[in-house]
Amino acid sequence: MIRKGKIFASLLLCAAFLAAQGMAPTTSARPGAPSFTPSFAAPELHLEADNLTLVKRQLAEYVQSGRYNREIAEVAKAAHDWVETRTAHVVPGEKLAAVFDIDETSLSNLPNMADCDFCSVAAQSKLYPADRLPAIPPVLDLYKFAKSKGIAMFILTGRYQSSRDVTAANLHAVGYTDWEDLLFRLNGNSDPARVMKAGVRAGIERKGYKIVLNIGDQLSDLIGGASERTFKLPNPFYFVE
Ligand SMILES: [Mg+2]
Repeated sequence: MIRKGKIFASLLLCAAFLAAQGMAPTTSARPGAPSFTPSFAAPELHLEADNLTLVKRQLAEYVQSGRYNREIAEVAKAAHDWVETRTAHVVPGEKLAAVFDIDETSLSNLPNMADCDFCSVAAQSKLYPADRLPAIPPVLDLYKFAKSKGIAMFILTGRYQSSRDVTAANLHAVGYTDWEDLLFRLNGNSDPARVMKAGVRAGIERKGYKIVLNIGDQLSDLIGGASERTFKLPNPFYFVE
């Protein structure tokens, strides 16, 4: 009986969520990546050029036209609506949690990418300081909103543990504070992000949390379970397996 009640409540939540979005979930997949459908996803940018210079030009237009920021705001709005819906239906005893990725989710490398004409992540790390990336404003607003609703915040990154101090300082400086935990890839770990992150999320749930929101810019942030709803931000700039 209790189980039936839970299933019914879950269906109601799902219907409310879809009604709030005014749309069905978007399928998002990339060649070479496992097929996965996030609860809500920004559309993929289909690059039409067959020449690197022209691809970079298309990326620059995508940003300068305002489309990138618009798509970020749409995903953050969907996640915001979900937090509102879900926190109105907390089962007694539930400890709600959210998982936020860092790069191109909580913080933006876009100023650096634009400055170096979309050079590689490795090249960027040599060219620019690692501690002064700006926040992505709609995601920071979402973070603060979820916190205000009593959700425990976990920030989970593919960055290595060795960057903890620099990363924490950057997050604090731009307004991400009071997280439950800031979780890194262990030094020496070379698992694909989708494996590493799914394992960490399972560990969070083993501690008694229910992860109701998981947001990232890569499918590898989202697949592998332990996420009641998944939100995929746009990132046509780079791919993380
Ligand atoms: Mg990321």
